[in-house]
Amino acid sequence: MKYLEDSKGLDIETRLSRLGRAPAEHSGMVNMPVYRGSTIVSETLEDYESRRQSDPTANYGRFGSPLSRALELAVCELEGGYRSLLFPSGLSACTHSLLGVLRAGDHVLISDGVYTPLRTFADEVLSRLQITVQYFSPTQPAELAAKITQKTRAIYLESPSSLTFEVQNVPALTATARRADALVVMDNTWATPLYFKPFAHGVDISIQAATKYIVGHSDALLGVATANESAWSALRSSAHDFGEIAGPDDIYLALRGLRTLAVRMKRHWDNGLKLAQSLQSHPAVDNILHPACPGDPGHALWKRDFSGASGLFGVALKPMSQLQLSTFFNRLRLFGIGWSWGGYESLVMHVDPLKRAEPSLALAGPLIRVHAGLEDASDLIADMYQALDAAWEITSSRLDPDNDDAPVAELSKRA
Ligand SMILES: *Cc1c(COP(=O)(O)O)cnc(C)c1O
Repeated sequence: MKYLEDSKGLDIETRLSRLGRAPAEHSGMVNMPVYRGSTIVSETLEDYESRRQSDPTANYGRFGSPLSRALELAVCELEGGYRSLLFPSGLSACTHSLLGVLRAGDHVLISDGVYTPLRTFADEVLSRLQITVQYFSPTQPAELAAKITQKTRAIYLESPSSLTFEVQNVPALTATARRADALVVMDNTWATPLYFKPFAHGVDISIQAATKYIVGHSDALLGVATANESAWSALRSSAHDFGEIAGPDDIYLALRGLRTLAVRMKRHWDNGLKLAQSLQSHPAVDNILHPACPGDPGHALWKRDFSGASGLFGVALKPMSQLQLSTFFNRLRLFGIGWSWGGYESLVMHVDPLKRAEPSLALAGPLIRVHAGLEDASDLIADMYQALDAAWEITSSRLDPDNDDAPVAELSKRA
């Protein structure tokens, strides 16, 4: 593919506009066409046999198409890995990466900061397959070394955690894993391949929930797992043998999103940082969880290992009543209340309950997660301030005695 070969050595932002395109092979069309298909026919039996010999996966639609391979090549180049595979969702990329690597009887160590669906999969499904699941503190690399056993086959990281934003010392953790012959799987969705290079930091399989920043418009679900050479066969069989395949329209949308990833990320980074820094001084805010903010416990590691930040961060609020919390949420005009992130639009969510093996964050009040979209930063700041002001103005003395005005942190402990 000419566009791939002659892009080597160019800046990553130039490569984003070239990777995974092949106009000469498609009547000059700038973008890859959407290939739909299950059956792939051959003209002759000899043709069929030779195709099967050269690439056994080029014989049936379930193994991909020129379109899916274009996105796989592009993401693989960006991540800096050996090969990539698409999955129908980000979670599917996470779970199949683990299923590819782990066997019954194995032990897996998972960062205690992983997002909840991965934790549920580990606790419910991996345990059922007789794989022992254990968690380690995302901020204590020594704890990983102490918990590794002869049976530890994989380490799973999410850095920073997309709920609590602890940055992990990835080079230290991967060095520990390598000494124990364990593979490291990392969810790299927060930073995207633009701002963190997983393979340069010793990771074996890197995951993108492409649903987030790569698709970028909240209109498709997609996952990509990228392996280095030694982890590739485990990853490939895990996808192909389970019959995982992503839909062509979603793949097309991801390739399209990729073209603007760099400009969007700069804006998400900038908006997120501006919003986080201005929220720091609101009286209702206890603490900001954002690795790119100086003073954040993960700031030094972020500066050392990352080249940018996304628009997703946490806000630990002061203790407040349920009425105050719902006033804050309901007064917001520019922030949708909903899960996911990485789209052009701003979002906010109450992280509750926070599932952890060990309590690591001392939270006095509710924790919220904010995604700064591509809107104007001053509009976003003003909207947050008016909603927080409205919540903060409600004092306990003005509460109706029938309202449950117990602090929310207390409520979630009871639940
Ligand atoms: C959303 C998300 C996923 C899963 O992506 P889906 O496409 O929603 O399945 C995986 N990891 C992280 C960190 C996420 O935020």
